[in-house]
This record gives sequence, C-alpha cells and structure tokens, in this order.
Amino acid sequence: MRFYVPTEVYNAENCVERYATKLASFGKKALIVTGRYSAKKCGALDDVIKALESNDTAYEIFDEVENNPSMETVMKARDFGLKSNVDFVIGIGGGSPLDACKAISMMIKNKDKGMEMLYDAGYETTYLPTVCIPTTAGTGSEVTPYAILTVHKDKTKRSLPHKIYPVLALTDSKYTRFMSHENTVNTAIDALAHMLESNLNTNANLYNRAFSEYGLKIWGASKDSLINASLEEKDFNNFLNASTIAGMAIAHTGTSLPHGLSYTLTYELNIPHGKAVGIFLPGYLKEYAKNDSQAVKECLNNLDFKDIDEFKHYIDTVLGKVSFDQTLLEQDVEGIMANEKKLKNYPFKITAEELINFYDV
Ligand code: NAP
Ligand code: FE
Repeated sequence: MRFYVPTEVYNAENCVERYATKLASFGKKALIVTGRYSAKKCGALDDVIKALESNDTAYEIFDEVENNPSMETVMKARDFGLKSNVDFVIGIGGGSPLDACKAISMMIKNKDKGMEMLYDAGYETTYLPTVCIPTTAGTGSEVTPYAILTVHKDKTKRSLPHKIYPVLALTDSKYTRFMSHENTVNTAIDALAHMLESNLNTNANLYNRAFSEYGLKIWGASKDSLINASLEEKDFNNFLNASTIAGMAIAHTGTSLPHGLSYTLTYELNIPHGKAVGIFLPGYLKEYAKNDSQAVKECLNNLDFKDIDEFKHYIDTVLGKVSFDQTLLEQDVEGIMANEKKLKNYPFKITAEELINFYDV
C-alpha cells in the first residue's frame, strides 16, 4: 500500500497572514494566478499581496483565468510569467485558477516547450514551486496533483497526464463565505463526489478510505445547511476541510465514472463542474450497490443517509432539476465505453445501458 500527498497544508483562521513568511519563501518574485473577480472580492488577493510585500517579495498578477480553464489561457499566462521572470506561482481561487496555476508552473519551467507538452506524458514533469489558496470548498485541487483543462479541439475537458503537486496549501474558510449559495452547493457536491468516487474505486485501499470516510462524516454533519441555505461558521469549516480531505483521497485513487461523464456536459452545456458530477451520483451508487451493497451502505451511513432513495431525494433537492438531451448523454457514454482509461477506476464490468442509467431522473 502506498499513500503520497507531499503538499504541506495549513488550515487556520487568517492562514495567509499567519504563514506569510512561508508563502513568500519560494523565490524573489511570484506570479499570482486568479480568476476575474472573486480573489479580489473575498479578500484573498489582498491578503497574499500584504504577505508578499511584508517579506519584500515581488509579484505580478495574471487575473484572466476563466471557469474550466483552457490550454490557450495557460499558454498566455506562461508567456506573461516568463516575461516577468518569476520564480514561483501562487494560485488563488476555485479549482479553475488552481488547476491553471499548476499547468502554468510546468510550462514556465519548460520555457522551450510548446502547448503540446501539456498532454504529452513523454515529457518529464518538472515545474516551479506552486502554492494553492482555495476560495471554494470543492475541488481539493490544493492537495491533488491533477490539473483539468478544457481542450477545445476535442470539445471536452481532460486531466493532464503530468502530476503537479503544490508545495504549499493555505486554507481558510473565511474566503469561501463570499460564494453564492448556488456555488457553495455545487462545489460541496464536487467534494462529496470525490469522497464517494475515491472510496468506491479500483485503486482504493485503507489509506485513502480513511480520508474519505472521515470526510464523509464531517460533510454529512453539515449537509442540512445546504438545503436551507443556513451555513454557519462550523459548516463552512466542515465543507472546506472535507474538500481538502477529499482531495487527499483522490490524489491517491483518481476519480471515477461520475467525473468521467460530467466533462462533456460541462463543455457542451456549461453546467458547473460539481453539478454536472452530482447528477450522476445517485445512479452511480445504485449501480455500484448491485455488486457491493455493503460498501455503498457504509458510505451512506457515514453521511447519515438511511438509503439510496433518501440520498437521491437530497441530491435532487439541493441541485434542482437538470435536464438535457438524451442524445448528448448517449454520445458521452459512447466516448467513455470506447476509452479504457475512463473505465479502469470502476471495479466492475459495466454496459453502456447501465452507464446511461446513472442519470436517474
Ligand atoms: P471555479 O471554476 O474555480 O469557479 C467558479 C466560480 O466561482 C467563478 O465564477 C469564480 O469567480 C467563483 N468564485 C470562486 N471563489 C469564490 C469566492 N470565494 N466567492 C465568490 N465567488 C467565487 O469553481 P470550482 O468548482 O472550484 O472549480 C472547478 C474546476 O476545478 C473545474 O475545471 C474542474 O474540472 C476542476 N477540478 C479540479 C480538481 C483537481 O483535483 N485538480 C478536482 C475537481 C475539479 P472568478 O472567476 O472571479 O474567480
Ligand atoms: Fe471534481
């Protein structure tokens, strides 16, 4: 058995201020990578700037990362980072800026390489030190080695074959409180999916299950707050910690079929990541339970749901109705069935029809 999550993680109130010296310790000049608005709005960018300035560390800001970042955006930020001669990269935001920042740090380090390096596993993976500061509580990207980019030519999103581990993660739930409730729900469902897909996974072992089982418990303890939009401090903390713990779990196993099915829906219909994954979770558990009902029961117990029907009712309530064309789902499933890599984390044989039934309306 092996467990490897090399990121140094601090979770604390005023985490960036408290660990300012550490944050500034990776070189003379940082490239800060963010989305358009939220890093400013939630105060995280200001905190990072103060931390760097108080340690006489220079910085430049690239604030153009879009939701579900593209390869093109990564290359634009890489050119900017190279011109600015930066030594390390700090990502602030949801999974989009954090994933982008990992890919950017690799492309800056490999300045003589073109865009093709992103998806070519033949290149050795080297990258600048990368610090991640999450402002959503969902992806766990601050501790995972994954970066998922939009590949426009294939009309989908795809994980890089390179494993890029952040050197430092600073997590503080004060930032996540600025999210809209809809965003809070969608990102929390992403973390939930990570814990379920890691637990019910071909690669699962005692170590990652320990993370996912504990994560499911603290997620479950706060689940009602998502229904009535009544999150208190403890709930924001629970969702952020569950998200980081879930990241530690998938760092080991990868995700499984609900994530695989979600990418085309996000690309084609712009459905937010967590929501696009979440709609497949009840059907996934139902199908999985046909092969191993005990494992599914344990997950549901940890979340404090009595059965799959109660879980499905909960997911339908928090996510609302999501409808889309059956043909798109069929094409999506066809793509998955033809790709061994997308099926390998699901431990049982599965047919196209069973996969279609994951979308259990
Ligand atoms: P996101 O795409 O990073 O952000 C979604 C929206 O939330 C953006 O409009 C963003 O605004 C806003 N936002 C972020 N933080 C906020 C805050 N504190 N207050 C108010 N608004 C805030 O969302 P995400 O769900 O966190 O990340 C999704 C991406 O992560 C997908 O590309 C997905 O594939 C990837 N992902 C990666 C992993 C991994 O292991 N690496 C795992 C799961 C998912 P701005 O644009 O203004 O910042
Ligand atoms: Fe995810």
